[in-house]
Amino acid sequence: MDASLRREYLEAMGIDSWVPRQSSPDSGVMDAASTAAQPPPAGPVEREADAELPSWLEEVPPPTEEWAESEMPDSAPAAVDAVASLDWPALIYRVAQCSACELHAGRRQTVFGVGDSSANLMVIGEAPGAEEDRRGEPFVGRAGQLLNAMLLAIGLQRDQVYIANILKCRPPGNRDPRPDEALKCEPFLLRQVALVRPKVILAVGKIAAQNLLKSQETVGRMRGKAFHFESVPVVVSYHPAYLLRSPDQKAKAWQDLQRVAGLLKV
Ligand code: URA
Repeated sequence: MDASLRREYLEAMGIDSWVPRQSSPDSGVMDAASTAAQPPPAGPVEREADAELPSWLEEVPPPTEEWAESEMPDSAPAAVDAVASLDWPALIYRVAQCSACELHAGRRQTVFGVGDSSANLMVIGEAPGAEEDRRGEPFVGRAGQLLNAMLLAIGLQRDQVYIANILKCRPPGNRDPRPDEALKCEPFLLRQVALVRPKVILAVGKIAAQNLLKSQETVGRMRGKAFHFESVPVVVSYHPAYLLRSPDQKAKAWQDLQRVAGLLKV
């Protein structure tokens, strides 16, 4: 990708350029893209006009709450069978009619998923928020705008990927999805993955990663590792909403996106 275009994309993500401490700015700017493509620098690097160590060298803060082991379901319900043979229209209809958990009572509408139904990349998030519940489309708020910029950073328009959530209904007050809700919704996502048949899944955030991978690890521990969901390679990264609150983590997200881009090329 053209270097200036890449810099524009990184700017859209809000990622700063980095300069190696040992070189002058004139001798070659090292941006987050080039640092991510290489192993971590042996020596310290510094941010332009900021001599502190880059934040991506710091450890990820621990999550405020961990799911208890006993809470983590380990098998999908029998409903998988009922959904496993549905085509797209039937699946959309089934989701729209679903009342398997209490969330159906509070929703304006279900938020099924959006994008290219045969995309190479599938992005999986957590659950609809207020705006998504209103518009019936995942990732349409501020987090969605950042997600779009992140995708553009690897040369993908939003409509070239398929975007879905663990839950199809909005949890009240944007609380975390409960394990039983995720389990009841899981057959729908399984079927979406089977129909799209993506080459790569990008799981954004703790809820997506933990539910897909049946893990209780933090995103910080899962990112950078190789996982599969239904035989599809999964890259774990931070949720765009978290990145909006913690922009200093965007360089790590950029590394994850580059892994996605690499897997898509294979
Ligand atoms: N966050 C998500 O995880 N999904 C959405 O659809 C919107 C925000």
